[in-house]
Amino acid sequence: MIPGAFEYHRPKSVADAVKLLSELGEDARPLAGGHSLIPMMKLRLATPEHLVDLGAIGELKGIRQDSGTIVIGAMTTQHALIVSDILATKLPILREAALVVADPQVRYVGTLGGNVANGDPGNDMPAVMMCLDAAYTVLGKQGERRISARQFYRGAYATALAAGEIVTEIRVPVPATGHGHAYEKLKRKVGDYATAAAAVVLTMSGGKVASCAIGLTNVAETPLLAEEAAKIVVGSSLDAATVKKAAAAAEAITSPASDSRGSAEYRTKMAGVMLSRALARAKSLAA
Ligand SMILES: Cc1cc2nc3c(=O)[nH]c(=O)nc-3n(C[C@H](O)[C@H](O)[C@H](O)COP(=O)(O)OP(=O)(O)OC[C@H]3O[C@@H](n4cnc5c(N)ncnc54)[C@H](O)[C@@H]3O)c2cc1C
Repeated sequence: MIPGAFEYHRPKSVADAVKLLSELGEDARPLAGGHSLIPMMKLRLATPEHLVDLGAIGELKGIRQDSGTIVIGAMTTQHALIVSDILATKLPILREAALVVADPQVRYVGTLGGNVANGDPGNDMPAVMMCLDAAYTVLGKQGERRISARQFYRGAYATALAAGEIVTEIRVPVPATGHGHAYEKLKRKVGDYATAAAAVVLTMSGGKVASCAIGLTNVAETPLLAEEAAKIVVGSSLDAATVKKAAAAAEAITSPASDSRGSAEYRTKMAGVMLSRALARAKSLAA
């Protein structure tokens, strides 16, 4: 349970971090809160020779509104999401999801940037970001680019990030006023990763669903955007038959592994159950 030897670097600016990562090459990894990377290093599943700690870079922290977009610095902790007034008003699903990530000790140190960049299908924020149609600003030696969360996840621990690139901010379009939202997560105990989880953001008009987006956590190698399920509910009043059909459509795109959280069949079924609950709660919150 002791990591291999590594050199520790603590740059003071984003520019210095990017320069270091590009000079050190494939043997270097950015370090954020360390709550995924350090356990992996202890298990020798990751053996970086250099850690570039982003913790001293003030410009990577904070939450602000930029007209219709909420911009969250990558080094903003999961705890900071919970206590943010802007998020409580404009993006309550983010606060809700942050509250079910791990436990308070992890959330005080673990960051949003680390959670979305990690690529672990068990992380909660990626499916929420796909549901919200967020984008990640990334910076590397070639310059800055923006990647949609919906295009970012390629496989377990495989993302669209190129070597040496870091996520600097997460940009989330503010959902319509009066939208309904829910993140339903089944976990075996407090602090556990999801057996299955579903994120829903929807709007209602005249008793019918006017728009809907759905994300699923930990039921495939990547977070999933359940587009067909969302299409099924749009135009409906979320009657029982429609919800059942949407749950079946969501289950159909999952491919979870059987593991200590349950068999593949059980986890697939739970994705549908979490979605049904999330749809009902989102409807109840929509104005
Ligand atoms: C007991 C326990 C329970 C947990 N339960 C949950 C849970 O229920 N749900 C959940 O979502 N997570 C859970 N986690 C993981 C936790 O949320 C981590 O904090 C998170 O996955 C990673 O964030 P971090 O800041 O700690 O990143 P780190 O561990 O420092 O980094 C993770 C990975 O992302 C890379 N990285 C970090 N920041 C950047 C960046 N800005 N740009 C590019 N790459 C970057 C690192 O190089 C590394 O590969 C749990 C962790 C523990 C220890």
